Amino acid sequence: MVHLPLRLILDGDALVSNWKWLAGRGGGAACGAAVKADGYALGAREVVKRLQQAGCRDFFVTTWAEAEALASLPQDVSLSVLHGVGPRDGPAAQRSRARPVLNSPEQVARWRETGRPCDVMVDTGINRLGISPSDVASGLLEGLRIETLMSHLASADEDVPTNEAQRRAFADLASGVAARRLSLANSAGICLGSDFGFDLTRPGIALYGGVPRPEAAGHIRQVVRVEAEIVQRRRVEAGDRVGYNATFVAECRHEIAILNIGYADGYLRGFSGTGRARVGDGFVPVVGRVSMDLTAICIDGAPELAEGDWIELDYDLPTASAQSGLSQYELLTALGSRFERIWK
Ligand SMILES: *Cc1c(COP(=O)(O)O)cnc(C)c1O
Repeated sequence: MVHLPLRLILDGDALVSNWKWLAGRGGGAACGAAVKADGYALGAREVVKRLQQAGCRDFFVTTWAEAEALASLPQDVSLSVLHGVGPRDGPAAQRSRARPVLNSPEQVARWRETGRPCDVMVDTGINRLGISPSDVASGLLEGLRIETLMSHLASADEDVPTNEAQRRAFADLASGVAARRLSLANSAGICLGSDFGFDLTRPGIALYGGVPRPEAAGHIRQVVRVEAEIVQRRRVEAGDRVGYNATFVAECRHEIAILNIGYADGYLRGFSGTGRARVGDGFVPVVGRVSMDLTAICIDGAPELAEGDWIELDYDLPTASAQSGLSQYELLTALGSRFERIWK
């Protein structure tokens, strides 16, 4: 086995604890899990395994390829494909146990003839995917075997009147559709209150340590820790420059460690001069530009650190988001393929 000098330490207990907190906020709704984009880059199979053991029964992916990667799931687990069934998805959808989330009249027409159960997305104002209220009113969904009727909130992470407007629009639409279950809330939507829970919630980001709204702060635990190895130590003197374009110029002598991580791994350039690494009980700063595969940190307080030592970058999602200007979602989904993913 080749040694991988980059690793994600993934906290399974924190993942389950986050799911349980979210499940408890849904006003009696079942709590599912969005595991699209390979479980927000943590690894969908490992996420599903742990959440399923905790009692989660409803999972959401984006594509049939993602559904196929989870094909060996236990039979009592439900899997929905959010992008529905497109013109070239027929064969994959036929062989899959997953249900499409039908998003348009074209998708409804395509699926209707199969006679199989489906989920349906209705649009209540995000104008992204979903069937329009007028198409619902004109009977487009009649005769479908709808397992879950869902809609998606556009601004649940903000305090705006459109949240309640979407909730009402969804409840109105749902009263005229035969569906076994109703689902509206993502992570932020769950935080808006139990009125938003309906029968099933669909959290993603908060499962993985994202804090979408203040209500979740202090309850959601960090799941992902990012660790890189020191490739080289060096000392710089006053006037020396570090990294591309010399954005860091030393004002005095500094001890520097060069880490084996960069923007190709998802440690993006927004962390240049703003990111931090955990050393001892505190944090030390990233200095200069993040490059493709390397990042410099200043370790004045810890000169004993040496080549090959592991260093944890500060990847607490709300903090790292503020440091980098990236969203908590981008911070996770950017994490690349060079990491070893270690669950503890
Ligand atoms: C991604 C997604 C979710 C999960 O959203 P989070 O904001 O990550 O909680 C829920 N529903 C739909 C339709 C999605 O696309």
